[in-house]
Amino acid sequence: MTYPAVSDIPAPLRLRLDGDALVANWRALGRMSGAAACGAAIKADGYGLGAEGVATRLAAAGCRDFFVATWREAAALAHLRLPLAVLHGVRDEDMPAALSGIARPVLNTPAQVARWRQAGGGACDVMVDTGMNRLGLGEGDLALLDGLEIDTLMSHLACADEDSAMNERQRAAFAALVGRTSARRMSLANSAGIALGIDYAFDLTRPGLALYGGVPRAELSAAIVQVAYPQAQVLQCRRVAAGETVGYNATWRASADGGVAILNLGYADGYPRAFSDRGGASLDGARLPVVGRVSMDLTAVSVPDRLSLSEGDWLTIDYDLQHESALTGRSPYELLTALAGRFDRVWTP
Ligand SMILES: *Cc1c(COP(=O)(O)O)cnc(C)c1O
Repeated sequence: MTYPAVSDIPAPLRLRLDGDALVANWRALGRMSGAAACGAAIKADGYGLGAEGVATRLAAAGCRDFFVATWREAAALAHLRLPLAVLHGVRDEDMPAALSGIARPVLNTPAQVARWRQAGGGACDVMVDTGMNRLGLGEGDLALLDGLEIDTLMSHLACADEDSAMNERQRAAFAALVGRTSARRMSLANSAGIALGIDYAFDLTRPGLALYGGVPRAELSAAIVQVAYPQAQVLQCRRVAAGETVGYNATWRASADGGVAILNLGYADGYPRAFSDRGGASLDGARLPVVGRVSMDLTAVSVPDRLSLSEGDWLTIDYDLQHESALTGRSPYELLTALAGRFDRVWTP
C-alpha cells in the first residue's frame, strides 16, 4: 500500500500572496531610503509568508541584503545562495554552519566576537547597542573589533514606531560611531525607522514588517499595500433559527433566522481567539462577520441572505493588519507570524 503524500492533499486554508505588492512595498521603502541600499528582514520564515518565496521575489527585484534570526533559518535558504546575515550571531553550536559560509554572522557580544576571531571566520557584521538594551556590543567593547573584517555595523531602534525622543538619541549615538570601526557600511533603520527620515537611513535599511503590508507609522500608509490574504474553505452551511446560539459557550445568539457558514480556520491556524465575535470574512463584496467563539480549527461566520454560499467555497478573511491589530490588540507582527504552518501559500505571480 502506498500512503498519500501530505503535499498532494490541498489544504483547506490558503494564504494568497501578492508578489507584485511585495515588490512594490520594497521599492517604496527603497525610495524612502534615498541613496542607502534597502535590504529585507526575512526571519521567522519571512514573517509567516515563507522566506523562500519572499527572498526569490525580492532578489529578482534587486534586493542584495537579507536578514534571518538563526542558522537554522540560514541553512533552510542556503540553496538560494542569497547574501544573508544571521542576526543572532554565533553560538558554539552554530560554528560548523557559520564557517560553511552560507551567511555572515551579526556578532552581538564580546564572547561572539572572540569565538569568531578565534575560528578565523571571515567577513562579519556587528550589532552595537545604542539604548535598547537588547542585543549588541556596548560602546566600550568597540576595541575588541580591531582587525575584524566587518561588512556592516548595525544598531536597532527601540521606539521607531512612536514619536519618542529616544529615536534621535539612538540616531546620534549611532552616527557618532561612523569611522570608529573598519565597517564598510552602517545600518540602523527598520521599517518604522525608514519613515523617521533620511537621517536614519545611513548606508543600508532593514525593513521587515512594511514589506509584508504592515504600517508601523502613518508616513508609510500611502506607500504600503497589503500582501497577505488568508482564505478559508467553507465546511458546512447551516440555517440557524432566531434565538439559537453558535459555538462554544453559546456566546452568540441569532436575533433572526439566518445562514451561518463554518470555516476551516481556528486559533491553531494562527487566527487568534481575539477575533471571536469581532473578525470577518468577505466574498464578492459581501461581508460575513465572525459569530461566536473562534475554536481550535473552526470559525463560524454569519451569511447575508443575498449571498448563496456552498460547501467548498472559499472566503477571504479580513486581514488588514492595522485594522485587525486595533480590533484584537495583537501586534501586526504577531498577526502575520501566526499564520505559518497549516496554510498553503499561493503566490500570484
Ligand atoms: C526584525 C528586525 C528588523 C526588521 O524590523 P521591522 O520592524 O519588521 O521592519 C530589522 N533589524 C533587526 C535587527 C531586526 O531584528
